[in-house]
Amino acid sequence: MQGLIITLDGPAGSGKSTIARRLAQRLGLEFLDTGAMYRGLTALCLDDGIDPAAAPAAVVELARRFPIRFDWQADPPRLHIGEHDLTDRLRDPDVTFSVSDVASIGAVRQVMVEAQRRIALSHPRLVTEGRDQGSVVFPQALIKFYLDATPAVRAKRRAEEIRRAGKPVDEAQILEQITMRDQRDQQRTDGPLYCPSNAAVVDTSHLSLEQVLEHLEKLVREKAAEAQITIGGSSKYQPASPLGTEPSR
Ligand code: C5P
Repeated sequence: MQGLIITLDGPAGSGKSTIARRLAQRLGLEFLDTGAMYRGLTALCLDDGIDPAAAPAAVVELARRFPIRFDWQADPPRLHIGEHDLTDRLRDPDVTFSVSDVASIGAVRQVMVEAQRRIALSHPRLVTEGRDQGSVVFPQALIKFYLDATPAVRAKRRAEEIRRAGKPVDEAQILEQITMRDQRDQQRTDGPLYCPSNAAVVDTSHLSLEQVLEHLEKLVREKAAEAQITIGGSSKYQPASPLGTEPSR
């Protein structure tokens, strides 16, 4: 079957992970969470007593020494580095706090970009989400999305997620962290967050998850039909084929 890469980039809390995963399910594709890779490396550093802001060379050494692996049998795929399954560590507050320090190290990004392209060779039909997927890692992707929402909406969504998990929340603090992470992600020299010129921008501030998914799915199916690429999954959308062939299901 032909390869098909769909990229989703955007700032913290724009709903990329959930949307990328659900979109992949709808389309019968696999899903890559590249933020999890930066988070996994961050967890490994912190658990080894390395402060990424103070010792970037030690972070690079760990990144080069311990390749990241996903267990693709699990949904979502579990993340392993060396002997460790770090999946349950990825969303811990200390990891979230330090991850943009790790992600701003150019040599770390090089290792990650190579790893992501290698993953796409063995998983060529992929919805991949992050900050640089459409701009740097897969500039040739068939379709690129840039998901955005106002910082206040993003903070509210994160706070609700944490509340649902039964943990205490300080929404003002979350908003401050999100704003700080946005700035760091946008201002770094290597792989900064920006909207690639040929990406479809979707502001999710006033849309439900289902509305976003329907919109994205429709665009992907139309684009795939134009490019004569077969898409799996099932949908009520039946893109008109410009070539007079039956749209693929
Ligand atoms: O998307 P998520 O919040 O899990 O990403 C965590 C962090 O990892 C981001 O704030 C960013 O610093 C970094 N990241 C990145 N490039 C990616 C994915 C994530 O720099 N492709």
